[in-house]
Amino acid sequence: MSNIIVLLGPPGAGKGTQADKLAARLDIPKIATGDVLRAALRDGTPRGKEAKAYMDRGDLVPDSVIFGILRDVMGSPATSKGAILDGAVRTVPQAKELGIMLAELGKGVDSVLLLDISDDKLTERLSGRTVCEKCQTPYMGREPETKCEKCGSKLIRRKDDEPEAIRNRLKVYRAQTAPVIDWYGENGMKVHKVDADGPVDEVTRRAVEALEK
Ligand SMILES: [Zn+2]
Repeated sequence: MSNIIVLLGPPGAGKGTQADKLAARLDIPKIATGDVLRAALRDGTPRGKEAKAYMDRGDLVPDSVIFGILRDVMGSPATSKGAILDGAVRTVPQAKELGIMLAELGKGVDSVLLLDISDDKLTERLSGRTVCEKCQTPYMGREPETKCEKCGSKLIRRKDDEPEAIRNRLKVYRAQTAPVIDWYGENGMKVHKVDADGPVDEVTRRAVEALEK
């Protein structure tokens, strides 16, 4: 039986971490759009080359190319049991595109999981995040300019995690992704809403429980 799960949630809700945890618990791979794009670029696949041509021109890689890359992955034996899709759907057109692509493979979205968390909590989380400027290890609750425990380089706050940028990212999320939740609802798909505020393992437990319902 296939088990294709679309993971939704605002920036900072812990999608990447929860996708990893859920993949391990449910024994299906995590398919993060950013990862498969990087892999296609690295391996120089035909679609990877197509994506690179856009990037070399300084353009965004269009959805049609991204979904072509995702289609290759979703049609491969690696995802025969299903997958947790992280980052595939941020807009309603992408939700539609994903549905069409999976239907062509004789598959479909089985569950939609929303990691739900308030803007205040997100701002607190994101602004508490720093990353090593050299090895990119992420840290929570550590000040910029302190030292990385792994390599001793200095920690920085990414521009994306500055308060003004956070407000902007949340605004984009509310405008683009919130309608996706309504769209799935209108198309007969139950969206499992999970409270994403709490310890990582507790959130995973809630998510598994929601999916089993
Ligand atoms: Zn480091």
